[in-house]
Amino acid sequence: MLNDKDLSRYARQVIIPNFDEEGQEKLLNTKCLIVGAGGLGCPVALYTSAAGFGHIEIYDQDIIEVSNLNRQIAHKNNCLGNSKAENLVLECKKINPNITLISRKKIFDENIDIKHFDLIFDCSDNPKTKYTLNYLSHKNKKILISGSAVQFEGQLSIWKSGVSKHYPCYECVFPKTYEKAPTTNCREAGIIGPVTGLIGSMQVNEAIKEVAIKNYSSTAGYLFLYDGLTQNLDKIKLVKNYQCPVCSK
Ligand SMILES: [Zn+2]
Repeated sequence: MLNDKDLSRYARQVIIPNFDEEGQEKLLNTKCLIVGAGGLGCPVALYTSAAGFGHIEIYDQDIIEVSNLNRQIAHKNNCLGNSKAENLVLECKKINPNITLISRKKIFDENIDIKHFDLIFDCSDNPKTKYTLNYLSHKNKKILISGSAVQFEGQLSIWKSGVSKHYPCYECVFPKTYEKAPTTNCREAGIIGPVTGLIGSMQVNEAIKEVAIKNYSSTAGYLFLYDGLTQNLDKIKLVKNYQCPVCSK
């Protein structure tokens, strides 16, 4: 049962018929891991906190630099040099002091135990972390909500290969290659701030549906491609690779 404070705080959500109090209780009982406290991690952490996901843990080893501020909207000019993970937790607590927020100022790697989480948000900007999160999420049967953005383009997908063997995983669709990949990180290729804001918001929208909405059809197994120049949003059906080294075993 929600208390009076929760009913007031989340009033605009619980009023939605297929969400209601039961949906809010589910959010409050959900443990989220957010990897990355940058352009995607900022909106993901702010919106998951505001929505009332009950336990949120944020990993990022970096400090705030002035070149981050065009898109990493939780980080302010007077926080340059501070830890991104710690600062993002402070900002989220200002929105919602009634949930548990933990910062981890360290690199996320394959040795980190993710068993106790329910939802994993990939807000990283490098392939190594994305493959690691995919492997761990599949192995531990977790839902992985992955975003990426470069220049005016963004990608979103929900990976549930560990939940049901019929779904593809990240590595089915993006197999590891030993050739040098073209530049796709924002440091070298550039990034428009609102594109990260949109993709991060969409990650949380999908998370709320996965956890709390009744009679909801999952968008897992699709890749969403957003083009900020044309405003096109493509929804592409993905195919499982039955020889995939991660999810075919
Ligand atoms: Zn796979």
